Amino acid sequence: MRASIITVGTEILVGSILNTHAEYISNILNDLGVHVDYHISVRDNLEQIENILKGQLEKVDLIFLCGGLGPTADDMTKEAVSNVIGRSIILDEIQHKKLLKRFRESKFKMTENNLKQAMIIENSTILDNKWGIAPGEIIEYGDKKIFLLPGPPKELRPMVDEYLKYYITDNNEVVIRSLNVAGLGESVVEDKIRKLNLETKNISINTFAKFYDTEIKIIAEGRDRNSLIEKVDLIVSKLYDTFGTNIYSEGKITLNESLVKLLKEKELKISFAESITGGLLASQITSISGASSVLSESYITYSNDVKIKILGVKENTLNNYGVVSKEVAYEMAKGLRALTKSDICISTTGEAGPNPSEKEVGLNYICYYFDENKYKVVEHKFKGTRNEIQKRVCDTAILDLILMLRG
Ligand code: ATP
Repeated sequence: MRASIITVGTEILVGSILNTHAEYISNILNDLGVHVDYHISVRDNLEQIENILKGQLEKVDLIFLCGGLGPTADDMTKEAVSNVIGRSIILDEIQHKKLLKRFRESKFKMTENNLKQAMIIENSTILDNKWGIAPGEIIEYGDKKIFLLPGPPKELRPMVDEYLKYYITDNNEVVIRSLNVAGLGESVVEDKIRKLNLETKNISINTFAKFYDTEIKIIAEGRDRNSLIEKVDLIVSKLYDTFGTNIYSEGKITLNESLVKLLKEKELKISFAESITGGLLASQITSISGASSVLSESYITYSNDVKIKILGVKENTLNNYGVVSKEVAYEMAKGLRALTKSDICISTTGEAGPNPSEKEVGLNYICYYFDENKYKVVEHKFKGTRNEIQKRVCDTAILDLILMLRG
């Protein structure tokens, strides 16, 4: 099946909000084996919405119209659908009662235009909106389906999560697995996969370059689910043979989750002495539930004075090599170990810019300290804005540590 996601709202086209619906719905449709062919954003303009809808009805099987279901004059999605498919807009008694009850129980007065939110396209299936007012709808039109979904993400997302899987079914079974590979560029990953020659008519393998890693997505489509699972498992085991520990996680598991899981499994404690990353590392780890079992203390040691006072970095080292140096990174991590006794101590120092103070912008050092005989200081040069450089240092530290722990 092929789909099109049409987001309605002038605010998207003038740059006031980011169109997150396209990403959210595409992700879920992809997992359901639906090919999303188009992302279209259109202004709150009746004629434009109608034209887009007409065009898409000729191209795809499923159309998602997001937004424009509210009470105001610029909410005209239902009107556009009604005009294009020639079906009336009628008052739905159940939705009307719900609306009246809702206003009775709230401190707001119901105005006449609110009634619009109890109006539906004739013969549609209602998707109950437990998270807001305007209901969603599914309209069957020939062999096509048009989904109407409310604009606010706090309503659209749970509705998509709850309902989509029940209404998008065809006779095909779809099995999807994705592997996250780090430490190799996308072209290397792609090249190795092509050489393995694993794809067949019903199984596709695609790679997607991300900020610091590459996702390999295997999609198998066919009638027999068990046989698809077997085939995909076989491909996955061949990919593990090829990429080994470079596969740091599967599915939607993030770098941070992977690291916390790994540290828990190995019963290791971690601490950070952060300069260039300014607390980002500790923040990323503590964003994961259960992080307290792997991190009990961590430090932002931003100024030279604090590096000397808290971590015992030598003044001489700072004077001789500068704060952005492998020598300082090492002394920071070593001092952190003395202070915290954590199994793994990581320090970061670098120049985030935009104006260089001592070394070139983007230069940074990360020290991974396990004990006096086992540590590593790595130099990187990253390009980007201040925040991008900080994030890159942070993700690189986490990723490299995962690879090190995996051996
Ligand atoms: P309402 O009843 O709130 O008017 P609606 O269905 O008419 O709902 P819109 O008015 O189109 O929805 O959008 C409501 C809000 O939802 C927008 O102001 C915006 O904050 C958010 N929103 C709409 N479309 C998107 C989108 N594509 N991505 C992210 N947020 C969106």
